[in-house]
Amino acid sequence: MAETRSLRDVLRVKPGSRVRLADIDPRETFGRDKDASKDELAAGIERLAGLQERLYAEGKQALLVVLQGIDAAGKDGTIRHVMAGFNPMGCRVVSFKVPTADEVAHDFLWRVHREVPGHGEIAVFNRSHYEDVLVVRVHDLVPKDVWSRRYEEINAFEALLAANGIRIVKIFLLISRDEQRERFQERLDDPTKRWKFRMGDLDERKLWDDYIAAFDDALTRCSTDVAPWYVIPADRNWFRNLAVAEIVAETLEEMDPQYPPADPTLPADLKVE
Ligand code: ADP
Repeated sequence: MAETRSLRDVLRVKPGSRVRLADIDPRETFGRDKDASKDELAAGIERLAGLQERLYAEGKQALLVVLQGIDAAGKDGTIRHVMAGFNPMGCRVVSFKVPTADEVAHDFLWRVHREVPGHGEIAVFNRSHYEDVLVVRVHDLVPKDVWSRRYEEINAFEALLAANGIRIVKIFLLISRDEQRERFQERLDDPTKRWKFRMGDLDERKLWDDYIAAFDDALTRCSTDVAPWYVIPADRNWFRNLAVAEIVAETLEEMDPQYPPADPTLPADLKVE
């Protein structure tokens, strides 16, 4: 039954399979119910908070959540809603912007590597090293022979992180072209959202098909057993939040962090005077 299938299984890009985003419906909800989703999300966030606390206390593993999506896909909203229960002490959000002069003077993974989470920590990447096979490819910022090598370089990099105790979850938020138009228009019409809009957003929108082709390739070539991609239908915010919360919570559950043992020299009946 659709309702009982784990969204994590349904939405994972099976390693080796070919992704065609054009074949995926951004409004799909897999039988989930909007009315029930509020309580489900609240429960999911509470579950996440407990798991994060254990991860932090254990201090042996780390979680990296990579968030990508076309402009207005809802990356910021996902972070706001899903990460709401995390204790800021063990969680970091890193936003990757146009690289600085210092960053472009290095290999493309240099600025990324130093932001990966340490043991006990969760890091959420708002954009990531994938920009180097997305915007960079679409705008020909480096020659093709350079960006086309990067898929393998990314896989090797992520395998290195995984081998060092970092669990990687990569989330792609899929919205439709119509939904993006509505969201852009809403930004223009709402004085509290207008600041988010840039003229350049319209130029990027014209390149929609190029971006989708670049995402198709990145998702196809870089979904691996140790660092799988998940494609989240994201036209409906409530479903997006629910799906991301469930995927992250199930991943943390699988990691099964444990509270460290107490000091063995502590007497069982010790009383604080
Ligand atoms: P956001 O859209 O993430 O809220 P911005 O409006 O500041 O934040 O956009 C960040 C910009 O930085 C995006 O246009 C993105 O494509 C660009 N960017 C990120 N990484 C790279 C990169 N490696 N090379 C070129 N541009 C990049």
